[in-house]
Amino acid sequence: MNNKIVLSVKNLNKIYNKNIQALKNLNLEVNEGEIFGLLGPNGAGKSTFINILSGITTKTSGDVNVWGFNLDKNPRQVRASLGIVPQEINVDPFFTPKNLLELQAGLYGVKKKDRITDTILELVSLKDKANSYTRNLSGGMQRRLLIAKALVHKPPIVILDEPTAGVDVELRKKLLENVKSLQSIGVTIILTTHYLSEAEEMCDRIAIINKGRLIALDTTENMLNKIQGKIVKFKINKKVSNLGDISNLIKIVSNNSKELIISYEKNKVNIQNIIDSLKAQNIDILDVQSTDPDLEDVFIKLIKD
Ligand code: ADP
Repeated sequence: MNNKIVLSVKNLNKIYNKNIQALKNLNLEVNEGEIFGLLGPNGAGKSTFINILSGITTKTSGDVNVWGFNLDKNPRQVRASLGIVPQEINVDPFFTPKNLLELQAGLYGVKKKDRITDTILELVSLKDKANSYTRNLSGGMQRRLLIAKALVHKPPIVILDEPTAGVDVELRKKLLENVKSLQSIGVTIILTTHYLSEAEEMCDRIAIINKGRLIALDTTENMLNKIQGKIVKFKINKKVSNLGDISNLIKIVSNNSKELIISYEKNKVNIQNIIDSLKAQNIDILDVQSTDPDLEDVFIKLIKD
């Protein structure tokens, strides 16, 4: 992945009426070609951030640059560089996907010869529905159509606001595949989601905001490594009486003649030490199961701190 910065935000503040400060000195940079996750609990300021980028809300102070354009100096170019996929389904039920995309391209001033309607429909797997009425499309298809609508002017950066909210598992999978294919053709993606497993699966880097402040920004992998706790379940043939040297480094969750469940910090104990200790007591290990912390754990920890 290259490191060209395509979106940067410096000391961004937003104060609504009645002194509600929705964004507090927000600083972040998005790299070209990445899928950048923007996570945070309700009221964190995610919509405010997206609304500032799309021009729905004005910022109170700070600098925003998108695709080399400054939001204060070149707002139209900023808008042209972004494709924003809203949360709400707002497509006219009496249009067909094809008509709708042609209309949207017209609104953006894309000349007929430069339109890529068919390519977009293919990209979001709606080619065979090109001429069906939108009202006859499933919820998942309508969401894909929203993505398609955001692509008509070929924006290099696409922002997806909760793209899979309320979509069933199968359609969600399809939708996420579409997002990956967008990335594969070089589009930079900013994704907000409530589904942490989805962020974990999709995002190269993740920013977590809480109460308007950036509280974490790192690669998904580093974010997961921040939580060191690991739980291991051993199926055994007799009760463990003594774990020797490592007993003060681990926590015993359950210990009986059939199983031993322990938790420990990955950076302090190596699983091999535990296995050796069990073997030293002539205990047979019949099965081992371990769980790694997921983004949910990281999120809860950060929001609490
Ligand atoms: P999120 O999208 O992360 O849930 P929002 O950006 O919607 O967060 O909200 C951030 C804060 O700003 C919240 O305290 C919210 O109540 C407040 N807020 C959002 N929009 C407005 C508005 N139009 N007027 C006043 N306060 C607002």
